[in-house]
Amino acid sequence: MTGRQGRSQRPVTVSIVGSTGSIGTQALDVVNSEPDRFKVVALGAWRSVDLLVSQARQFRPDVVAIGDASAAPALAAALPPGTEVVTGIEGLVSIAPLGEVVVNAVVGFAGLPVTLAALEAGRRLALANKESLIAGAPVVQRARRTPGAEIIPVDSEHCALHQCLRAGRSPDEVARLVLTASGGPFRGRTRAELQGVTVEEALAHPTWRMGPKITVDSSTLMNKGLEVIEAHELFGVEYDRLAVIIHPQSVVHSMVEFTDGATVAQLSNPDMRLPIGYALAYPDRLQHPFGAIDWATLRRLDFEQPDRDVFVCLDLAEQAGRAGGLAPAWLNAGNEVAVAAFLEGRVGWGAIASVVADTVDACEQIPVADAGDVIEADRRARERAEQAVRRRGLAA
Ligand code: MG
Repeated sequence: MTGRQGRSQRPVTVSIVGSTGSIGTQALDVVNSEPDRFKVVALGAWRSVDLLVSQARQFRPDVVAIGDASAAPALAAALPPGTEVVTGIEGLVSIAPLGEVVVNAVVGFAGLPVTLAALEAGRRLALANKESLIAGAPVVQRARRTPGAEIIPVDSEHCALHQCLRAGRSPDEVARLVLTASGGPFRGRTRAELQGVTVEEALAHPTWRMGPKITVDSSTLMNKGLEVIEAHELFGVEYDRLAVIIHPQSVVHSMVEFTDGATVAQLSNPDMRLPIGYALAYPDRLQHPFGAIDWATLRRLDFEQPDRDVFVCLDLAEQAGRAGGLAPAWLNAGNEVAVAAFLEGRVGWGAIASVVADTVDACEQIPVADAGDVIEADRRARERAEQAVRRRGLAA
């Protein structure tokens, strides 16, 4: 007995764009945990040929996409016979609609065309690429109205909110969404104590193991700021009813407060395979547990207010979200440029917020007709952000 009533026995087909990164490899772990339930039909990555080959040999997708076309011959030579190879950003985008569920695990704004391709094809989008929804909201929300299209967030907080919201019967019953944040590696430090922190320190996240971009975003609380915008876009809740609370253990993944005073929370140990599995299996649940809590060892759950004077990126993001239009696209572009510059040693950690602020200040609000307008806004914002990086850069 499977206990999964109403679900067909045919496996759900899955495309994974960004299969060699942190989320992509964990998505394949989830597939592997219930191999009769999911069938990987397409895999794609930018340039990690060796890992892509080993994934393809194990999961036998019909199509494999490689973003870096120069790596295609080596890839094609090593794949199982009959596997189709497609290349470039077009290739990565083309595999999105091949699955009934599309995991978008691309890092950053570059994931926008994958998000749009999945939604415009009427697929379920398991969205780990929050930047595409945040920066591209004007066009992503339109694409989301395609019949059959839906977004199930692969972000632990939003997955938690998605689950908690199932406890209510109408949006009128929701008082507030409360997003939890671990606080990152620099929680509790003063501005002075954060002078000169290194890349290694910023990458030492206390509770989650993730890719470098999101780990730096966690150290500045920009990740939480982006997640506030993400929650607004996903659930249609206005900014006055979105709250952020620091919770260092990362066990309570977020909460919904209802109008009668009840708070419903989702708890589990930090393990991204739970939100990934939730998105793949939705509206059912995985039979294999990830992150289940051992109540014999869990001692305490702490909560505190975020320090908005030190972690100014949180307010910068909320302000851009409230401004709406293209402001989140400018914010996101400024942040992507600033984080890349920090990882390359071109600016200090404290300059990330300054570069973002300078970029958002230059935001040009224009009506958005199509994705091209968002891509152009991103390009212009990156130019401004690069200027800000040069102004605020470390002496060589
Ligand atoms: Mg998150």
